[in-house]
Amino acid sequence: MQPIICAEHLGKTYRSGKIEVPALRDVTFSVEPGQFVSIVGPSGSGKSTLFYLLGGLTRATSGKIVIDGVDFASLNDAERTKMRKSKIGFIFQKFNLLPTLSAGANIEIAYEISGQSGPLDKAYLNHLVEILGISGRLDHRPSELSGGEQQRVAIARALITRPSIVLADEPTGNLDTYNSDAVLEMLQRSNREFKQTVLMITHNPEAATIADRILHMRDGGITGIEEGKGAIAAHSW
Ligand code: ADP
Repeated sequence: MQPIICAEHLGKTYRSGKIEVPALRDVTFSVEPGQFVSIVGPSGSGKSTLFYLLGGLTRATSGKIVIDGVDFASLNDAERTKMRKSKIGFIFQKFNLLPTLSAGANIEIAYEISGQSGPLDKAYLNHLVEILGISGRLDHRPSELSGGEQQRVAIARALITRPSIVLADEPTGNLDTYNSDAVLEMLQRSNREFKQTVLMITHNPEAATIADRILHMRDGGITGIEEGKGAIAAHSW
């Protein structure tokens, strides 16, 4: 089977003036379609840099990234943006919701700006918000929602376009245990039920174990790969 994500000898060096900060060095790995992969490592190990590169949000200094058979380097900025919008759903630690829009509008606008052909599938939207436990909160603005509810809205926004890849950067970083477990379960559901490939960056070793595979990072490189449990206890909202 062709990997859905392939990183080959990936390197990224940040430059500010004369100072160079090597954030990623010679990172090579691949992810099969439908896998759930966690990426763990201490602060400063290069996890977020890898996240931005895989999401096409920044360019590598060296090496290449192939997503679903397409080399990012072969795309111009417009093509890269199109690919990102059509194939990748992003979930961030800071929920990044639009503050002046209701939760429901935040989800719908994500669909509209993604450039999908065809109208929003309302039945799918209803299913998503139902399983996320936010169907009664859609008229509320983000400031009227708890952190856990905001992250669930952000997950609905990421999944509404039915992306084949879900990239989550510390998705439980701002949440209590109850909401963290719920977010992890939802990511696992997106992987199992919606057959999405999930990459989750976390510095929480326990959260990482729900994945099929765990990549360990340190000093900008991958230092080890281990099997995850691939399981999480059932959660009720
Ligand atoms: P992590 O997500 O594991 O905490 P990062 O990818 O954020 O790691 O950072 C890796 C290294 O790159 C760190 O040394 C960090 O200080 C540096 N770094 C990250 N972003 C920038 C930037 N925009 N400019 C300069 N250095 C950066």
